[in-house]
Amino acid sequence: MSKRKDCCSFCGRNDVPLFEGMDGAYICPDCIERGHQIVTEEMQKPDRTKGTKDKPFSLQNLPKPQQIKDFLDQYVIGQDEAKRYLSVAVYNHYKRLALAQGVTLPKQAETYKDVEIEKSNIIMVGPTGTGKTLIARTIAKMLTVPFTIVDATVLTEAGYVGEDVENILTRLYQEADCNLEQTERGIVFIDEIDKIARKSDNPSITRDVSGEGVQQALLKLLEGSVVNVPPKGGRKHPEQEFVHINTQNILFICGGAFDGIERKIAQRLNTQVVGFESSLKTQTIDKDNLLQYIAPQDLKAFGLIPEIIGRLPILTYLRPLDRTSLRAILTEPKNAITRQYQKLLALDGVQLTFEQEALDYIVDKAIEYKLGARGLRSLTETVMMDLMYEIPNHPTETFVVTKALAEEKISRADTARLRNAI
Ligand code: ADP
Repeated sequence: MSKRKDCCSFCGRNDVPLFEGMDGAYICPDCIERGHQIVTEEMQKPDRTKGTKDKPFSLQNLPKPQQIKDFLDQYVIGQDEAKRYLSVAVYNHYKRLALAQGVTLPKQAETYKDVEIEKSNIIMVGPTGTGKTLIARTIAKMLTVPFTIVDATVLTEAGYVGEDVENILTRLYQEADCNLEQTERGIVFIDEIDKIARKSDNPSITRDVSGEGVQQALLKLLEGSVVNVPPKGGRKHPEQEFVHINTQNILFICGGAFDGIERKIAQRLNTQVVGFESSLKTQTIDKDNLLQYIAPQDLKAFGLIPEIIGRLPILTYLRPLDRTSLRAILTEPKNAITRQYQKLLALDGVQLTFEQEALDYIVDKAIEYKLGARGLRSLTETVMMDLMYEIPNHPTETFVVTKALAEEKISRADTARLRNAI
């Protein structure tokens, strides 16, 4: 331990004992602790960068769809259909990777040796804030292949302001620690795919920079081809060396709210039900949740080009969250909002509990102000803000958030600010 008046080479502190390293470098106990934490966290992350030689996929050891769904259930409330579709898709993705690696086939599969299994990219349609990104992020937690989330709104055709479509692959490549082999087995989640829909039904009278052109560019990636990718992202410069990424085994999952698509679905259903048996069919249609009847032609009517739709053969939907789901989201997921606050205060030695009525009240307000699941966080934050400021000064053993307290804090909050926070 140094006695000299030097400072930590990491944070600059000089008021604590310092450990001396070589060449006049010092480190303080806090930075040692932080460094230890970072290394531990890194070691706990699933290793997505191990080459096939280190960790071959074997058909027996793949996570089964049921296992993947069970994992999703711990974090995502409801949305069973989407979770099942995703679980099967990820399982099949792993199977294709195992085949590409040349695993020994079970006897039953020998007959189909020459059959090539095409990849099944997915599209999830559902109102904003119903869990599309959450499902994707949660899947990423358990994957052993590289995974990245990109936002379609920033994509433009090459040569226009915005990001080139190839940058999607740059992200995946970086996520795979620049390991090409790993990149080519990764999964990409493209959020807000609806934002690149064609704006008018009339194709290409004028160039539609943010719509059809981007879809065309994206098509190249989805259909499986070798794409020249700038490894550091940004624009393609002639002097920059490209990596050549084959997207044949990369799985694409797309998500979008497709605001107003219910109208297209209704139109289609209406024309379909005209004719005989029509009264019977209209009776069985659940008009409040038309999204469940979504079909590829509705995506086309919304403005996705048929080629893109063809490359996203698995179409699934998410339901709007009802009161019961919103209430469950507050307490049930592993990362539930209330649990997060409980953990924060537990670090001050305080055991925090919420009255059931307080939670019901928060849900009522989220529904009344039309804030959805994202609003649950801003509302709970509003209730907790002053407490988190005050409690550390006067820690008590226990603290109960009552309905009266929730009412007092939320009624004083500015609803416009709550809306902006989501
Ligand atoms: P989007 O469908 O717009 O991608 P997100 O997945 O980003 O919505 O959801 C926003 C937030 O709302 C999530 O981070 C999560 O806290 C909460 N949430 C939304 N849907 C669910 C759900 N089904 N289960 C649990 N939490 C959810």
